[in-house]
Amino acid sequence: MTEKDIQEITELLSSHKRIAITTHQFPDGDAMGSSLALYHYLKLRGHSASVVVPTYYPDFLHWMPGDEEVTNYMTHQHKALDLLEQAEILFCLDYDQPGRTKGLADAVENFEGSKILIDHHPNPGEFADYTLSVIEASSTAELIYEFILMLNDEALIDANIATCVYSGILTDTGSFSYGSTTYRAHYVAGEMIKAGADNLTIQNEIFNSNSEDRVRLMGYALSDRLTILTEFNTGYISLSIEDLARFNFQNGDTEGLVNYILSIKGISFAVLMLERDKSVKCSFRSIGQFPSNEVAREHFNGGGHTNASGGEHSGSLAEAEKLFRSVLPQYKKQLGR
Ligand code: 5GP
Ligand code: MN
Repeated sequence: MTEKDIQEITELLSSHKRIAITTHQFPDGDAMGSSLALYHYLKLRGHSASVVVPTYYPDFLHWMPGDEEVTNYMTHQHKALDLLEQAEILFCLDYDQPGRTKGLADAVENFEGSKILIDHHPNPGEFADYTLSVIEASSTAELIYEFILMLNDEALIDANIATCVYSGILTDTGSFSYGSTTYRAHYVAGEMIKAGADNLTIQNEIFNSNSEDRVRLMGYALSDRLTILTEFNTGYISLSIEDLARFNFQNGDTEGLVNYILSIKGISFAVLMLERDKSVKCSFRSIGQFPSNEVAREHFNGGGHTNASGGEHSGSLAEAEKLFRSVLPQYKKQLGR
């Protein structure tokens, strides 16, 4: 983002605007944290802002301040599209391509006002008028903080904004454990605590509010559904529709599960495969240099970051497993660590 961009955005935001904030489908902690942080900031500046999400998101993210104001396209299609249509400014947060917003994609692509993209994924598409893209940033939430600083509004950061920014950093760094956990991530998190984020409460809301079913599903997945491929320093868990039904699966219940595989000594690549109606959703994670996003992009119609990515396979769970095992040999060299 250039000086000129910042000047133009400052000008844009200097009078009252109707603003829509969008993020990717199946929003995670960073998607919701960055969207709601920006929402609170824009409200403080006197704008009419709304957060519009393409799909539902997990229960453990519904406590964030401003959550009751979020519009979900899946349940309120008409309202969601209206909000985008009536907006003069559209923020695109935590996604690199309009397609990531699923049902909102056409509206995002054809939006006629000013589009501002704030994101930390590699190679963001050139679909916005203004782009703040920092691949090294831990999270989009961290970039919302930088964005507020660029607009000289640090003094406006209140407990609501701080709580949402902190939550985005916390979740997207895997509790400050991934490679993306920089000095800046810790610094911004510290600043957010100073500004009123209650880090222990946030920790409890996000990580200590499991249902018994969820914990048992995790236990079952790890004891009965985990395969380790020592030759490739790789592990995967696959869960069928029946497995999920047995534990009354709720969206978000498997969040974080894939990381347990990486905690096994020597494992540097891990995948979680979840069977859906006619497809299999895959979550890839890696440690170190191994580009999990390359596997996601080239074989599973997806993408993401080096160490955390995702994709989908159109077919059965058995086929997805077979495909995954069949592509590993071509990465064998990179998988040695
Ligand atoms: P998760 O495994 O938590 O669903 O996703 C991890 C990361 O992978 C996300 O933050 C996102 O960057 C990326 N990702 C997940 N699913 C997809 C997908 O279907 N397509 C693309 N392009 N990226 C994805
Ligand atoms: Mn993110």
